[in-house]
Order: sequence, then structure tokens, then C-alpha cells
Amino acid sequence: MSGSSQEKSAMKVVLLCGGVGGSKMAEGLYHSFYGGNLSVIGNVADDQDFHGLWVSPDIDTLTYTLAGLIDSEKGWGLKDETNNTLNALNRLGCDTWMYLGDQDFATHIYRSQQRALGVRPTKIASAIAEKLGVNANIVLPTDQVIQNRVRTAQGWQDFQSYFVKNGCQEEILEMELRGIEQAHATTEALTTIAKADLIIIAPSNPIVSISPILAIPGIKSALRRAPAPVIAISPIVGGKTVRGPADHMMNVAGFSADAMGVAQCYQGVIDGIVIDHYDQHLAPQLAKQNLQVMVTDTLMRDRMSKAELADRVVQHMAQVFTLAKVG
Ligand code: GDP
Repeated sequence: MSGSSQEKSAMKVVLLCGGVGGSKMAEGLYHSFYGGNLSVIGNVADDQDFHGLWVSPDIDTLTYTLAGLIDSEKGWGLKDETNNTLNALNRLGCDTWMYLGDQDFATHIYRSQQRALGVRPTKIASAIAEKLGVNANIVLPTDQVIQNRVRTAQGWQDFQSYFVKNGCQEEILEMELRGIEQAHATTEALTTIAKADLIIIAPSNPIVSISPILAIPGIKSALRRAPAPVIAISPIVGGKTVRGPADHMMNVAGFSADAMGVAQCYQGVIDGIVIDHYDQHLAPQLAKQNLQVMVTDTLMRDRMSKAELADRVVQHMAQVFTLAKVG
């Protein structure tokens, strides 16, 4: 059923997604039978200024993935990259712990130029996606700057310092989402949610990738009002993250690091949840919370397994929620 060359479903599938984990699901959907009318609302809370340029790591990972340009070994960055600019910046005494390749710099220069001209960030993201040949809508949830920050024994630091510079090694004591009070949802995000047939929350970090999207005033109420069911795929498999610090962060935020914690984090937003076979024992408890529960293999290894997961999930949920436009 998978494969981009075949005829696709007209179902309007919307994915809420973070960086590397979420982009795996985005890639799966894009190449599945249900990739014909795909919109992805990405995370901007990990954005940061580097060398005077505005870098949007999760949006770039998503865009490069769908464009087929991603470095698939790392799961982020462009393939066939070189480091000349970073090396030259290093020679000038700049801090170069955030890896930015030469081709990648072009994206950040373009984004920063456009922002300086007053173009709305969501328009810029969609223009970059279009120029790179992505046949899906990449939508920003807000045009304002919101930023994840964490407090460790060393004090408050920006998210990339914790994540990249310090390699997620420090214990987090507290987290904040700077700028959230001033933010509001983009019209594009609200319209995309309102018109969706099925809304999927990717297996992304619930705390720093998905919660920042949900926290933007207007997004949660739009999801609750939307006629489409909202389902989440758990990023926690067998009580652990597949990669990254989501389990530790969930504990810090007061949630258990398992599918129950994921459901609790999205309480009032989701109608269904997809969990891995390893977590099958949690299905009855999740069902008691009025959630449609699907148990399946959620580990995405290659493009085929990503697309197969997407096909299985959409087909199953479309049947369960009796969506009109199955197939
Ligand atoms: P980040 O912004 O780059 O950290 O990426 P995301 O927030 O989108 O995704 C991180 C989450 O993806 C982690 O919590 C992982 O456990 C989860 N993840 C990565 N690969 C897989 C997978 O194949 N299956 C599932 N279920 N979760 C995954």
C-alpha cells in the first residue's frame, strides 16, 4: 500500500510534530497511502539565534526529511554536508558547538533575511518547503518567538545549550517556555486543524516538542472544537524513550515516563492513543480513560516501516472513528 508513486487518499491528515522522532512519522505519512493531503504543524520552541542567524532545528529537520535531503544516519542536517563556514567561524573565535553545515547555512541566511524584511515566519517556512520540493503543507503554530529553557545546577540555559552543547547530561530541575504569554496561533494552523479529517500527534517529545504547540493560546481549543478525532502515538516504548531525554523530562514535569504519562499529558485533547506491543499491559487502563487504544509495533527503522506504521494507524483510526473519507 505504501509508496509515493501510487494514487493517494484525499483524506486530510494533520500531524503535530517535533524534530527527529516526529519527522520519522512525517516521512512515514508522506510516503504512505495517506500522504496525498498532508499538513504538518511543527515545533518552533527549540529555535535560537546562532551567528546572527535564526535557526529553526525542528522545522528544518522536518523540511529536509520530507524533501529527501536529510542525513539519514544522523536523522538531522543535510546529507553530503561540508563544514567550511563553521571552521572559518571557529577561526574567528566564535562558539561552534552547534553543528551547522555549509548548505544548511543557506537556509538560515534565507530565513533571517526574510524575517528582517518582515515576512511572517510561517510564510517563510512554507516557502522553504516549496523551494525544496516538499509536497506537503508545513505550518508554524505561531509567528511569535517561544523558547524552551531548562534550569539545571548551573542555572537557567537555553534548550540547545542543554541538548547539544551539554549533551542532555545534566539533571533538569525546572523548565519554562519563554514568550508563551505573548504568543498566538497562526491563522494557517487554526484553519488546518479545523479542516482536518484526522489529527495525529507524532511520537515526539511530549514536553519540549508537543506541549509548546499545545500551549500556544488558541491551539488547544481549536483541537477540541475540530470535527476530526485527535490521536497520539506514544514516543515512550517500554518505559523508555527511543532516543533523547523525553523520559527524564516527563518525570520533571510530573508525568510518569510511560504511555499513561503521555495520555495524561494530552488529556482533554486526544481521543485515541497508539502504543507499542511492549506496553500492551497499559491498554485496559488507557481504555478506561475513554481513549481508543491501538497496540502495534511503533518502532520506525526505515522508510518502509515508517510508511507501514502510518498506513496501519490511519486505516485503523479511520475505521474506529468511522471517518467518511477512508481511502
Ligand atoms: P527531537 O525534537 O529531535 O527530540 O524529536 P521529537 O521530539 O520529534 O522526537 C523525540 C522522541 O521521538 C523521543 O521521545 C523518542 O522516544 C521518539 N521516537 C524516536 N523514534 C521513534 C520510533 O521509531 N518510535 C516511537 N514510538 N518513538 C520514537
